[in-house]
Amino acid sequence: MSQKKAASGLGTRPGGSVPEPYSSERTCRREVAKLRRITPRRKTVARRLARSLVRLGGLLCQTGRYGEAEPVFIEAVSILEHAAGANDIEVASALNNLAVCYKYLARYLDAGPLYQRALVMTERARGPWHPDVATIYHNLGGLEHAAGNWSRGEPFARKSVRIRRQALGPQHPDVAADMTALAALLDQQEKYAEAERLYRQALAIVERCYGPTHHQVAVNLNNLAAVRHARGDAAEAEHMYRRAISIDTTCLGPRHSKVGFSLNNLAVLLKSARPKESASLFRRALAIFRRSLGRNHPNVAICLENYASVLRTLGRRKEADTLARRAETILARIEAVNDEAVGVTGTINPEHTPFQLEVRPSPIHRVGVFANEPIPARRKVIEYTGERIGRNEARRRSNPKHVYLFELDKYWQIDGAIGGSGAEYINHSCEPNLRARLVRGHILYCSKRPIVRGEELTVDYQYPEITRMPCSCGAASCRGTMNKVGRDVRGSGTSRRRLS
Ligand SMILES: [Zn+2]
Repeated sequence: MSQKKAASGLGTRPGGSVPEPYSSERTCRREVAKLRRITPRRKTVARRLARSLVRLGGLLCQTGRYGEAEPVFIEAVSILEHAAGANDIEVASALNNLAVCYKYLARYLDAGPLYQRALVMTERARGPWHPDVATIYHNLGGLEHAAGNWSRGEPFARKSVRIRRQALGPQHPDVAADMTALAALLDQQEKYAEAERLYRQALAIVERCYGPTHHQVAVNLNNLAAVRHARGDAAEAEHMYRRAISIDTTCLGPRHSKVGFSLNNLAVLLKSARPKESASLFRRALAIFRRSLGRNHPNVAICLENYASVLRTLGRRKEADTLARRAETILARIEAVNDEAVGVTGTINPEHTPFQLEVRPSPIHRVGVFANEPIPARRKVIEYTGERIGRNEARRRSNPKHVYLFELDKYWQIDGAIGGSGAEYINHSCEPNLRARLVRGHILYCSKRPIVRGEELTVDYQYPEITRMPCSCGAASCRGTMNKVGRDVRGSGTSRRRLS
């Protein structure tokens, strides 16, 4: 894993239903119990119960108990779908909250499609320039951030800034939160100058609006510190981390996972200069992550790796090896799309498709892309995007398990795992409903025939015949291989390779 600091506190936001400050967990539970007793057959009672559940889930999230919040939100969604219909705006908000839980529980593939369902519903109900729409884009960016897919998150984050600025004006604290989230994706891509500018702007806005000791101030300080560290200013970075830790300890409590982020990051900073102090900070961060996020959370693994490396510096090799092995076991469980351990999020970037598409489990292979509305014949369905890489880099990234590479020509390939539109999730079929067209360096997937709502999108991968890839697409005319058949096997121009 390339990232050596725990994911910076992105401040993923719950949708419309932020709990009122006076409602404590206990009163919330009492309200839920009371409403359950009335047997919520009446729709108004059901709605009230669902709202109380959403409030309770929100409170649990505030204290970092995402595992406990998950079933609470699931129940709220199902009650609301019954009482209000599947397209109600409150359903969208509850789905968004549930997805936030999944993100923190590192269940990225559960989170992505939920956010996107919420996005479609919210856009339809509120219009495309509503702040609630910005919130879901913000969260989609946050999900990609958590999954380690920085460039894939960038367009989502930019969109949230654009929408919210238009809706609320440039000095609004919510705009600042969007800017912080965008900056976090930029700094991971080493676009430090733009990231630092955004963090400083956001910091000034939140200090003005909330005062100097608010959690949002701590988020910006923590992230800005990481950039200052990366740019070589360790002293300023340390000062900022310590301020962030003290603010968050005061306003969220000493055991909140966000305190763990800053502790871990400060420990990384001190690793070589003050290893003993660093080790004790890692121990504190670890205890916090284990308690608040569970023993198998990726942040625990990242922290373990960091801790192991400082123990090695201190000559405690045996302990270090045990911890490193533990970290490896945790990370091996996370579904990864490439050797950088980027998580699969199952999101579609709506900027690259005019249609409503959704990623979900597929009978062909793992997950696939499905049409959520009818698509006419001969239309551009989605562009295949990603990082443009050369032949040697492509060879390095080749992973027989999952590769999302599309051969553009003899030299260039597009890696959909990095900055992909979602088209990289489209499965192979020998009888596909899409065809790939190369238009001025862009790969466009176009419909060969009308596609009905709910149908899985497929394309013929036509792998070059280097290694034979068996096919089980289930089509009547399945040729038994995903390779291109015939004599012309090389240099076909747009053959897509995706080993699976
Ligand atoms: Zn087949």
